[in-house]
Amino acid sequence: MFKSRFPYFSVNADDKNKNTRVYLDSAATTQKLDSVLLAMDNYHQEYNASVHRGAYQSAQLATKAYEQARVKIQQLISAKKADEVIFTSGATESINMIANGLSINDLSGTTILVMASEHHANLLPWQAFAKRHKLNMDVIELSSDGIFSERELSRLYEQLSDDIALIAIAHVSNALGNIYPLEDIIEKAAKHNIVSVVDGTQALAHISVDVQKLNCDFYVFSGHKMYGPCGIGVLYGKYEALTALAPSKLGGEMVVDVDFSAVSFQMPPLKFEGGTPNIAGAIGLGEAAEFVKNNIEEIKRHEEKLHQYLIRQLSQFDSLIMVGNSAALPTKNNINNHDFSEHLSIGTLSFTVKNQQLNDLALYLSQAGVAVRVGHHCAMPLMKRLKLQGTLRVSLACYSDLKDIDYLIEHISHFLRLDESQARLHALTETKSVDENKQHFLLASKVQQSRGWDNVYRQLLLASKSLRILPQELRTSLTSVSGCETDLWLAMADDRFAAYSQSKVVRGILALLIERADHNISCGIHDFDYLQYLEFLGLSHYFSEGRRDGIANAIKTIDVIMKTNANANANAKTNED
Ligand code: PMP
Repeated sequence: MFKSRFPYFSVNADDKNKNTRVYLDSAATTQKLDSVLLAMDNYHQEYNASVHRGAYQSAQLATKAYEQARVKIQQLISAKKADEVIFTSGATESINMIANGLSINDLSGTTILVMASEHHANLLPWQAFAKRHKLNMDVIELSSDGIFSERELSRLYEQLSDDIALIAIAHVSNALGNIYPLEDIIEKAAKHNIVSVVDGTQALAHISVDVQKLNCDFYVFSGHKMYGPCGIGVLYGKYEALTALAPSKLGGEMVVDVDFSAVSFQMPPLKFEGGTPNIAGAIGLGEAAEFVKNNIEEIKRHEEKLHQYLIRQLSQFDSLIMVGNSAALPTKNNINNHDFSEHLSIGTLSFTVKNQQLNDLALYLSQAGVAVRVGHHCAMPLMKRLKLQGTLRVSLACYSDLKDIDYLIEHISHFLRLDESQARLHALTETKSVDENKQHFLLASKVQQSRGWDNVYRQLLLASKSLRILPQELRTSLTSVSGCETDLWLAMADDRFAAYSQSKVVRGILALLIERADHNISCGIHDFDYLQYLEFLGLSHYFSEGRRDGIANAIKTIDVIMKTNANANANAKTNED
């Protein structure tokens, strides 16, 4: 809908082969709005100068634009005054500034309460704070599938007491998309004098935010998740909370008077903005804030519609398991038995797929030009509670459209069908392939002859089935190979190489390496460049960043084993002689 406002999507627009840019990772970072880029360029080219100091014209223009950006952000989040908006480098810095500047004397309880889905950025500073001040940590629980409904809300209300000092909670979960009912929670928390710190990083681009209505003490977010630039973010605090908060970034710009042994600070916001700020970033963020403010109702309508469509489309795959509030929305496979009716999720959707390595799926999608994210999404404690290693996350934004979703679904469907058809083919040809494997480099030659990612992928899946699997009991720390995003083991078992990884793609690559290593052993070849070999097979550019080191380390392990064996054989021979 707003796609034309985002230059990222028009790069190579007329080149069909390079043009697939289905960007579904907006929870990681959003694409940048044209007016954001323009405003930043204008600042750099037309009136580049530092703020709050110079009397010359550029400096005055820069200061004016910087302070206007602050006002635009005040308006976006409905803060009482612009002085309650502090520019930081991002949400992470904002939360650390609160945790480092809060006085324990301003807190009444002895426990810090965090939401189970919290991003590490709104967990680790509080963990350190609790350790420093000898406080306890407690968790707001979700259901076993990551849902927060009336049941979990009632449980949370029971947790709120005078014993709680501070509640750290996201407005929207980055890992699940859940929107939390903060207005009610904070109202109850305030009755117990609980300080509230809200991480709004995933909220601003998708829902309306009114900090006065929320009545939170602090609210933080990052510019790059709301169509603005990286390296700029906001710490909002009620003015009295900011007055009580100690500045943790000390230096120029933030003082009224300095002596060698004393200092008096400026009032907020300047007392928190030590050093030369990210002026272009603030100006860019101001533009993004204005865009979101002017369009939020339309954005919400558009994203809700897409979100519903995405849920419906994904629910056609029986092996796909959604987590988070999206999983509780009614679909054909799922009778909604959760006790809320409102739409309580943004268009960020997390899921796993039975019997599939999510990294394989993400790699497959990436080859088709689809950007999605796989992993724990910086919410490791959540994944442990959900008993998952990670999820595949699809995240929408205002520029997403039905075509993006259709393209995603088509490729997920293709991936799953490919897998099924390989399994059938393998069952049919099992006997034959065992015989065929007696020929040298059968797997390698099939990969090398394949053209296009689909075919190479198909051959890797087939090769993965020929891998000699390292038995479970031998998968220990001694045989583990580090550096791969999925666990990987490689060793000799019964005088033959064997290996294992959950990823089928990695298993395929290991099968190719072992096929070659087996041959090298039988021919007495000890020096062989396996990495170059994979390159020669045309595979190296299919290694994802997260696997490159793992594959290189697997090769080192093969090398070490080969050389150790060669030495042992040589010694045995000398002894015989
Ligand atoms: N909180 C949430 C919910 C996030 O999604 C992120 C970014 N993934 C952060 C905090 C940290 O943001 P930044 O890296 O911009 O400081």
